[in-house]
Amino acid sequence: MSSKSEVKLPAHVVIFPIPAQGHMNSMLNLAHLFCLSDFHVTFIVSEFCHRLLLKNTSVPATFAAYPGFHFRIIPDGLPDDHPRFGAQAGGVSPAVIHNMVPLFKKMMADKDLLASPHRRPATCFVADGSFSFAADFAEENGLPLLYFRTPSAAYSWAFFQVDDLIQAQEIPIKAGKSMDGLVKGIPGMEGFLRRRDLPTFFRTDDANDRLLQSLAATTRQIVRAQAVIFNTFEDLEGPILSAMLEDLPRIYSIGPIHEHQKSRIIEKKSEASIVAGNLWAEDRSCIDWLNAQPARSVIYVSFGSITVVTREQLMEFWHGLVNSSHKFLWVIRSDFITGEDGGGQIPAELIESTKEKGYMVKWAPQEEVLNHPAVGAFLTHSGWNSTLESIVAGVPMICWPYFGDQTINSRFVSEVWKIGLDIKDICDRLIIEKAVREVMEVRKDEFLERADGMAKMAKKAVQRGGSSYTNLDALIQYIKSLITIGT
Ligand code: UDP
Repeated sequence: MSSKSEVKLPAHVVIFPIPAQGHMNSMLNLAHLFCLSDFHVTFIVSEFCHRLLLKNTSVPATFAAYPGFHFRIIPDGLPDDHPRFGAQAGGVSPAVIHNMVPLFKKMMADKDLLASPHRRPATCFVADGSFSFAADFAEENGLPLLYFRTPSAAYSWAFFQVDDLIQAQEIPIKAGKSMDGLVKGIPGMEGFLRRRDLPTFFRTDDANDRLLQSLAATTRQIVRAQAVIFNTFEDLEGPILSAMLEDLPRIYSIGPIHEHQKSRIIEKKSEASIVAGNLWAEDRSCIDWLNAQPARSVIYVSFGSITVVTREQLMEFWHGLVNSSHKFLWVIRSDFITGEDGGGQIPAELIESTKEKGYMVKWAPQEEVLNHPAVGAFLTHSGWNSTLESIVAGVPMICWPYFGDQTINSRFVSEVWKIGLDIKDICDRLIIEKAVREVMEVRKDEFLERADGMAKMAKKAVQRGGSSYTNLDALIQYIKSLITIGT
């Protein structure tokens, strides 16, 4: 039973993302939306990511303006010099499960740590949709659980079908079957989804593949939550969201969340800065370089925080870009090049010759770059955050998906929304050159027009009366309603 003074306290949400770039970004945005609604927030962050946020961003300073926001810093247990991103990113999740999660549970058991006379105990737990421990944990502790799925809804929906796809012998993909054949077993995607567009984890010859089964089991956990939040919007993934309602009765699609944050700050006339949880130092010199380029003349090239390429692939991209004759701005992280044939090192010839045609940085202020008038297209790995950022900026995409949800996202870009091209599974200079010319010249107007239409829909979704705006209000009300039920 709540005391009288406790009743007046706002809701208190505990948020725990996987400490990886794409997850942190969107869940920090979510935290900010809750702060703008006057909620109290406890945000679980690894020591490593917290250090990067302090060093490279204004995120801690922005949240310092909200007395109800607390970071809780927990070590991930990895050695300090573990890179955690690029080719080593796979080591993060097991470390988090083995090291951070037990410490998190211990922290949650210490009620005095989370609550005070000015802060109620946790009203609900918003867990990263990749945390399968969360459903048991929340149930055992009588804590309402909301899962936040950071990838596209289409990706989650595909994982919901794994058992049926195995039953129908659509996966494992049998030897001799064309990767271009259509997959019939995912409702809503029958007409356009090819085998090669399935999430990369489906590309196995063993139906009992451990990773496939464990990811499918994790996705199925989300039905145990009281609600599921998606960073998407109805005009983008409406049919998938509707199909999901059968399994997930309470869905809140509130994206694009980075744009939603902006629209709420403006509406509230808040002086808060935008939270951009980029973990790496942005090289802003690329904005000066862009300022000197004509409108829509530059192709922005970036593959997110995890994708790596071999030196050979790097050279194919480079030749393709240079041969296209268009200028390019290319993000080459220090851990982007892998393999024994020169891992880590950008070939000297590439640095030298790029000076004429393009500009290279280790990390860019991506959102600002995408919204720069000089940018005409985005060569991307189709990470969900990058896809949404490009959509909001109205920039057509050339997709070279690397893993996970990216293969399905890129198919939606090319075949459903028709705002770009998908060159998945091919890393060849001729194809890259052709794709750049197609998007920057031959079909430029057509792609720009559709991308502009999609950008308008995205922005409308997060403004008063829009679907994501209305859904966020409903989510806020729902969480408030948990105060009387739960705490
Ligand atoms: N990003 C950035 N600067 C860069 C490259 C990426 O700010 O030079 C940001 C980008 O804006 C996006 C995130 O990093 O928000 C990458 O997330 P995404 O889901 O696209 O890909 P992931 O890194 O998870 O593969």
